[in-house]
Amino acid sequence: MCPLYFQLQQAAEQNRSEDFLRSADVFRRKSLFIIGQMLEMSSRTEEDTTMLVDEILHSIFFLGSINKPPYSPEDIFDGEEEFLSELRDCYPRPFDLYSSELPKRSPFSCVLDMSVHLMGQENEREIMNTLRNITSQLIRAPKSKHLISFAICVSQNTEIPNSVRYYGVSMSTSGRDPGRIMVAASCVGGWDSHVADAVMTYYPGKTKKNYFDGTFRLPENIRCQAFKLSDGEEMPPCRSCENLFGLSVANPGVERGNGWAYGNCAEAESLSNLLKNEEEVKEQAQPASVMWTDENRQRARNYVLRDLKDLLHKVKFNWNNGFYSPQRITLEEGEINEY
Ligand SMILES: [Zn+2]
Repeated sequence: MCPLYFQLQQAAEQNRSEDFLRSADVFRRKSLFIIGQMLEMSSRTEEDTTMLVDEILHSIFFLGSINKPPYSPEDIFDGEEEFLSELRDCYPRPFDLYSSELPKRSPFSCVLDMSVHLMGQENEREIMNTLRNITSQLIRAPKSKHLISFAICVSQNTEIPNSVRYYGVSMSTSGRDPGRIMVAASCVGGWDSHVADAVMTYYPGKTKKNYFDGTFRLPENIRCQAFKLSDGEEMPPCRSCENLFGLSVANPGVERGNGWAYGNCAEAESLSNLLKNEEEVKEQAQPASVMWTDENRQRARNYVLRDLKDLLHKVKFNWNNGFYSPQRITLEEGEINEY
């Protein structure tokens, strides 16, 4: 176990104060708060969740590096030098690779996974409450879009009693470029191929490509239900999700979002997690278009990659074409006792 947990529990307490979150330097303070929460949650489970801490550090450092103004890990931990050096000792790879490799998902997805570890996938309410508790503390801060998600989605097979629930959260980025970069990175490096194909059908705009259609219709027996994290209220699928995954609303008269940027919603991540694990559902959810071919997919993928590289160039990120693979951290027994 990483010795930082004990120290960070204190830091998390301090970060909880409203003054801390209200003050300037929002990106920095939110980063510290979320990292503190992750270390604290990781210390509460017997399971090894160091991989999630490793991943979120990389994802936050990456978003910091392309933020306006940019934040280096040293900026984020300004005034916490001792802690920074211990964190670097425990988790060296995010520090080494945040400026060259892309994350496969945005930071709040790691918070979601940590909550699922802690509560168990069957405990939907508890998972939601944990996330709501964290976002409600962050939402008080100004410019609150940084690093937090506003929606969670649950997908499961309703034909099987007590079937596994697969979760997803909306993109936790702020600003047009970071959001578009994360959607492109998820298409190319993170999502299940069906979800990626559906999103690539539109990316980066709202117009369907005339040579590729990877959209699909989710089978009727699959529940895919999104909720606002602010109040737990159910969110009907927006028009983008309807176009991508064939999600419809029970009551057509119901008020719903006009359509977020394609791939931005919690539904995408939740369905990606489901389809990565449920082969049978994946077969049933095959895109039906004759334009769904390997050749056309490659063309669409090349297009997304080109756009991604242009965007990264614009935000002055020097990409090595790699995606970050988080790793488990193990420390020697002696090291733990030193603290
Ligand atoms: Zn949507």
